[in-house]
Amino acid sequence: MTVKEALEKLRSFEDTSFALGHAGGILNYDGSTIAPKQSAKVRALTQGELSRISYELTTAPETVEMIETLKTNENELDFVTARKASELYRDLDHMRRIPKDLFVEYQKLCVESDAVWHEAKANNDYASFKPYLQKMFDMSRQIALCIEPDKDPYDTQLNEFERGLTAETCEKFFATLKAGIVPLLQKVIASPNQVREPLLEGNFPVTVQREFSDYIMRVMGLDPERSIIGETEHPFTTDFSKYDVRITTHYHEDAVLSSMYSVIHEGGHALYELNIGDDITTSCLGGGVSMAMHESQSRFYENIIGRSREFCGVILPWLTEHFPAQLSGLTQDRLYRAVNASAPSLIRTEADELTYCLHIMVRFELERMMYAGTITADDLPHEWNRLYKEYLGIDVPDDKRGVLQDSHWSFGAIGYFPSYAIGSAYGAQYLEEMNKSFDVFAAVAAGDFSPISDWFRERIWKYGKLYDPSDLFKKVCGEFRPEVYVKYLEDKFSGIYGLT
Ligand SMILES: [Zn+2]
Repeated sequence: MTVKEALEKLRSFEDTSFALGHAGGILNYDGSTIAPKQSAKVRALTQGELSRISYELTTAPETVEMIETLKTNENELDFVTARKASELYRDLDHMRRIPKDLFVEYQKLCVESDAVWHEAKANNDYASFKPYLQKMFDMSRQIALCIEPDKDPYDTQLNEFERGLTAETCEKFFATLKAGIVPLLQKVIASPNQVREPLLEGNFPVTVQREFSDYIMRVMGLDPERSIIGETEHPFTTDFSKYDVRITTHYHEDAVLSSMYSVIHEGGHALYELNIGDDITTSCLGGGVSMAMHESQSRFYENIIGRSREFCGVILPWLTEHFPAQLSGLTQDRLYRAVNASAPSLIRTEADELTYCLHIMVRFELERMMYAGTITADDLPHEWNRLYKEYLGIDVPDDKRGVLQDSHWSFGAIGYFPSYAIGSAYGAQYLEEMNKSFDVFAAVAAGDFSPISDWFRERIWKYGKLYDPSDLFKKVCGEFRPEVYVKYLEDKFSGIYGLT
């Protein structure tokens, strides 16, 4: 195959891959939002066929030849095409290192284990999930060793979500966070200035909350011609290119801000996807580059912007106008304190900004011990509870609110959790850098988010997967310095809780 032929093949390969992903994605979104329950029976068949076609396309001899031709002649290619070639080659190389039987068995395990986990969580029945969980750790470790025989398999697993990340980097990062957050949290708990806002505990009709979501999306600058919001039990974002990005939320009548923070968080993910460069959006370089980079956007908008005093000032008039009976008397300061109330809790997804990373540290330590073989699935619930006591000072009443709470391990996302914490910490460095170009909170106070999105678009969003995530972060902020995040948390929570 000549380079010219390979380039033609690349174009048709990208078109077909995109179309298959697009069709499968729409089916998934439809299935989790509005499709009738029984549609699942036939949808599984269609999805099976789509993945079969996709697998055959990826492993076809002419696809392999195309990728190898481009990789060998990388020097003749322009920057973007060379990056495509090396990304496709990396995936192919990984795939070829995993024995086919092992790969198929693992795919099957992921589907079965996820189904068992759902039941196990609903019934608080860890025993039924335990054998699957052990197998999931064993098999993913085995696959990691196939891909990189000479590397710590946990590092290989981390790289599935954040290329270049190592357990050593995570350990240093978490040690810095722990040294800053644990004593700070102790002072917060001991402070006489505890926060409770009874006004936010009223009843907030879902119909009005839906209007509130539309308002928040407008404030954030989410283009209504290219993005929509749906409703699901667990909020998520999915994208089919920069022209079609969908977020979901869940409304609670008794907690108006719960849905708002889901919308802001998913809105942050959506802004990233809506601003990928035109030239790469349907290519294999389309989409956000990694989980930590993605979470760094969503958590920046959710916490650094969404839980700022200035943002509270922006939304307060809308809230008091639309919920006059419930919220009369609410002030910017009361709202600001309420959205930053901090206390150790059981559930990661509901944790406040200060305690959130402690939840991640527990999971990181457990994954490392499981991969090292120092504990087994038999020990996991006990170890989980022990670490929750150590890090958060709380007793875990049952496995449902303990080791069974997250879905990640059930579908093989081992090594994913650190991305959330790293993404959160990246945010503090974005803020530091952004403030060199313009006054971030002055823009927020004016309700004008465009300087923020312009800043992200030009430095991160438009590049898609064109650079490795750690290189991209370095280009924008220099070295990763977790102490910036610790300082941010110390300043913010000392202010709110009147600490000296
Ligand atoms: Zn997220």
